[in-house]
Amino acid sequence: MMEETHHEDEERLVNPDPQPEEQYDLSLRPQRLGEYIGQPEIKENLKVFIEAAKKRGHPLDHVLLSGPPGLGKTTLANIFAKEMETQIRSTSGPVIERQGDLAAILTNLEPGTILFIDEIHRMNRVIEEVLYGAMEDFTLDIIIGQGPAARTVKLDLPRFTLVGATTRTGLLSSPLRDRFGIQTRLNYYTPEELKIIILRAAAILRVEIVEEAAMELAQRSRGTPRIANRMLRRCRDFADLETGGVITFPLMRRSLEKMGIDLEGLDQMDRHILQTIIEKFSGGPVGLGTLAAAVSEEKDTLEDVYEPFLLLNGFIQRTPRGRTATPRAFEHLNLPTLQADSQISLF
Ligand code: ADP
Repeated sequence: MMEETHHEDEERLVNPDPQPEEQYDLSLRPQRLGEYIGQPEIKENLKVFIEAAKKRGHPLDHVLLSGPPGLGKTTLANIFAKEMETQIRSTSGPVIERQGDLAAILTNLEPGTILFIDEIHRMNRVIEEVLYGAMEDFTLDIIIGQGPAARTVKLDLPRFTLVGATTRTGLLSSPLRDRFGIQTRLNYYTPEELKIIILRAAAILRVEIVEEAAMELAQRSRGTPRIANRMLRRCRDFADLETGGVITFPLMRRSLEKMGIDLEGLDQMDRHILQTIIEKFSGGPVGLGTLAAAVSEEKDTLEDVYEPFLLLNGFIQRTPRGRTATPRAFEHLNLPTLQADSQISLF
């Protein structure tokens, strides 16, 4: 039950979900708040909450971390444990199958433990109700026996901190959301922050990278540390074979080209999505479900993983009638703008 999950689509280089090799390579993960790069306002606030809780000798208030995959939610949860000098137990929403599973986890916690529930929005609503009392007053109602003889017993739980991570706050029920005292949304990282992350990772992996190569890798990492680190690892593989281990600017360019990642950080799937909107749906609008079917991808994955980046960078727009490709998308794919064509034909 206590396991990390990862998703389909193992092949995709810019897939922000953790890949198997990364589950074992935890060394790149910052251990303390001071090593955590970027997210300055969030770090500032969390520092205060952590210090205040420590001073009072209480566990940290429950924390909800939201934001796209690969931005550092799991990393932060682990940092909380380190900073609070306590232990962490990790699980995820979809692997908790019954109320009893969650009750067992809660009753076995040591006082002060950080309980990390990844993808908390995917937890079953019925199971989730167990958390309400547990989060609010550290009690658990359990029913003993069946039928008329059944009775409810209130169990006291150790005080703990629930850290929930979600890619979609909107999918969380409000009773659950309201029980998190601290709610934080992680933002995409700037290229400057990603460059620092890449240089730090390169030092840990003992690979030499020239500064301009690090900067361009950062620009092509779609704002996501996990993708930055992954691209760095792949460049290191090419560098080991071709340049005696040094990631030079041309080597970085060649490596990314081989991986199918273009100058804007878009990969084949991103381009496939844009091309589909433009060629199959005349530039849109097209509904998310229809688009997902056309590119053979899960609707949720399209919405959580691909869309935020394409939206943020102005390649697509969300309209009440569906998604449309922007002039920037046409330009990026070197396709003539349909609107311009049809306007010309009017005259
Ligand atoms: P999430 O839980 O949001 O999907 P993770 O916490 O697993 O993301 O982060 C993915 C990887 O990115 C981590 O293993 C770590 O190497 C790197 N990372 C994330 N955030 C940071 C950061 N702020 N500074 C440095 N590295 C980071």
